Parts: sequence; structure tokens; C-alpha cells
Amino acid sequence: PADGTASARTDSGSRPRAGTGDPLLRIEDLHKSYGNEEVLQGIDLAVERGDVEVLVGPSGSGKSTLLRCLNLLTPVDSGHIYLGDTEVTAPDTDPNEIRQQIGMVFQDINLFAHLTARQNITLGLRKVKGIPKDEARKRADAELERVGLADQADSYPAQLSGGQKQRVGIARALAMDPEVMLFDEPTSALDPELSNEVLEVMDELVEGGMTMVVVTHEMRFARGGATNITFLSDGQIVERGPPDKLFEDPDRERTAQFFQSIR
Ligand code: ADP
Ligand code: MG
Repeated sequence: PADGTASARTDSGSRPRAGTGDPLLRIEDLHKSYGNEEVLQGIDLAVERGDVEVLVGPSGSGKSTLLRCLNLLTPVDSGHIYLGDTEVTAPDTDPNEIRQQIGMVFQDINLFAHLTARQNITLGLRKVKGIPKDEARKRADAELERVGLADQADSYPAQLSGGQKQRVGIARALAMDPEVMLFDEPTSALDPELSNEVLEVMDELVEGGMTMVVVTHEMRFARGGATNITFLSDGQIVERGPPDKLFEDPDRERTAQFFQSIR
């Protein structure tokens, strides 16, 4: 990273925890409406480097909108988002720059059908980052290896399973060397066994110290991987805390009800 801090990618496998009260990602009083519906009603959230924030909440509570605001796929109405010292929501921010630093993986696996797995990854590296062909190829292959798909570099999306496609999507985002990774229900469209291979890759990212914001119904991942769980309802944060606290002893009745409903 340009600020000279340690890369999120460590080979040690230990999770670097800043714990400095100086968060990598900071959201302040974020508001967003669609028409008359205020979908985000003043969100405040701070995520430290190496931490994993899991967002849960009923359908329509604003989880996807929040993630989309974070990497400028959706413009905010008011409030601020900061990535380190950079204000993401500043009017002169280049969205392409932000999307390199804040990678996103969607529920709908959006690979280009006419490109191989490797080409899906090299495309952004060459077009957005201006990386030469050979180097882009090397990086793509390294990322494919990281997600366990070294042998599928020349496969087209139609030749891959849903889980493999999702892993290519993760590799594509990782290739940009992001500071933060956002995941919006990455396994919701997958059968359980295919979900597992994606969750394993996510677990490895957690182990490697990647800063992540993850919307998921996979409570096993939330329980094992989350630093904090944020429970969102009707565009507001109802409660936030470590997984054990939210699962076992939440302060709010609504939180308890939600976890009961998804059990
Ligand atoms: P979640 O991901 O928690 O299910 P969303 O962020 O997708 O929730 O949606 C929150 C609310 O915003 C829902 O009522 C949804 O219908 C509405 N919404 C989301 N995206 C749009 C959009 N592009 N235009 C209009 N309404 C939207
Ligand atoms: Mg959603």
C-alpha cells in the first residue's frame, strides 16, 4: 500500500490486528434513499485493518446498498466514507481507483462468458492498471493458484462450476491488490458443496489478514471468521458486536429474534 503500512497479505498466516482505534474503513452518518424509501438511515461503522465485518439482516434491510455505496456503485445522499486517509465519498474521487482498492464479489457471478478464467483476470489488470501482458498473465495465474484453480486458467465460464466461477471472481478482485474485500452473499446461489469451496477460500483470506466486509447467511463463516457482526434492520444498525455476544447474549430482542429465525 502507498501509505507504507504492512500489506494485508502475510505469509505467516497470523491475522494482523491494528487495534489502534485508527480504522481502515470508516462510515459516518451514511444516508441513502430510493424515492420515498430511506434505505440507509444514518449508518456509522468503523472496520480496522485485518478485521472481518459480517453484515446480517432481513432481506431489504439495506445490506447490498451499503456495500454498493462503499465502492461507489451507488451514490450516497449524505454522510462520509473513508478508506484510510482517502475520502471515498469526496466529489473528486475516481471510482476506478476506489474499486481497485475496495474489491467486490457479488452473488451473481459476473464473468465475461467469451473470456477464459485467466483472461477475465488479466482484462482489468491490463485495462485499468496498465500492467503489461506477460506480467498480467503471471499475476492472474498466481491468483488462480491462490483460489485453487491453477488448472482451470484456460477454461471458459461455461466449463466451470458455480463455485469455480465464484472463485475466479474472487481471484479477479484479489488481482487488483485491494485493501478491502466486499462480499455480497457470495454463496447464496450455490449448492452446499460448492458453497464450501468458496467459504474455504474466504477462510484463507481471513487467515491471511485481509480486511473484509461480508454479507452472508452462512453462520458458520460468521461465527468462525467475523471480528464483529453487524445486524442491520430497516436501514439502521440495530446491534453490533463479536459473534459470541450476538449469537449467545444479544442486547436487543430483535437481534435474538433474527438469529432464531435463520437457525
Ligand atoms: P438487502 O441487501 O439487505 O436485501 P438492499 O440493499 O438490496 O437490501 O435493498 C434495500 C431496499 O432498497 C429494498 O427495499 C430494495 O427494494 C431497495 N432498493 C435497492 N436497490 C434499489 C434500486 N436500485 N432502486 C430502487 N430501490 C432499491
Ligand atoms: Mg442484498
